[in-house]
Amino acid sequence: MSAEYFCVSCRTPFLNSSPLDENGRCALCRNGLRGFDAAYTFGSYEGALRELIHLFKYGGVRTLAKPFGGHLAVALPRNEQFDAVVPMPLHWLRRWRRGFNQSDLLAREVARRCGVPVIHAVRRRRSTLSQAGLTNAKRRANVAGAFAPKQGRPLEGKRVLLIDDVMTTGATAAACALAIKRAGARYVALLTLARTDRRSMAPVRIPATAGGGFPEESASC
Ligand SMILES: [Zn+2]
Repeated sequence: MSAEYFCVSCRTPFLNSSPLDENGRCALCRNGLRGFDAAYTFGSYEGALRELIHLFKYGGVRTLAKPFGGHLAVALPRNEQFDAVVPMPLHWLRRWRRGFNQSDLLAREVARRCGVPVIHAVRRRRSTLSQAGLTNAKRRANVAGAFAPKQGRPLEGKRVLLIDDVMTTGATAAACALAIKRAGARYVALLTLARTDRRSMAPVRIPATAGGGFPEESASC
């Protein structure tokens, strides 16, 4: 069964319209827990796209940033205009271990195509626990306070495009978007390569063992 209903803000799919209010917004967006004002994605986190994202992140195939930049540009509506692109920050230790921040490479490609600057306006204060297996509320608590805006409100009045590779529940992106707003942004849209909830709406599969094929929260965790 495929989802027929989507929140107008975060594009989260639902099987029926009951979670959506009269404006078509889900409870998280209604209560300001999303942080971002819109969410766009290229595809589902499955199949070839998932394998390519793994090659990019864990296999160190950085040259994939270029075609991925094209995918991201396709996913962005033509009428959306931005003043700056912000990559989802990695905690410094994870960045050091991986050697690069995959969202940074993607952000550079998108910024080049849009003709706007990349601004590293937020930092990751601490490394968060793996989000896999946590409930949505626990995911939000896990990442709350994980991001801090840098000094000087570098995004004052700006429309910002936040780039990440994968969106799962959106809890990480929501926390980061809130920090971007504290840095002065007036609008934040999230753009990702893939979402885990784009697949058919089968009952939620709980992993029997950690890492048993269950998608991780955002690649940038
Ligand atoms: Zn929503």
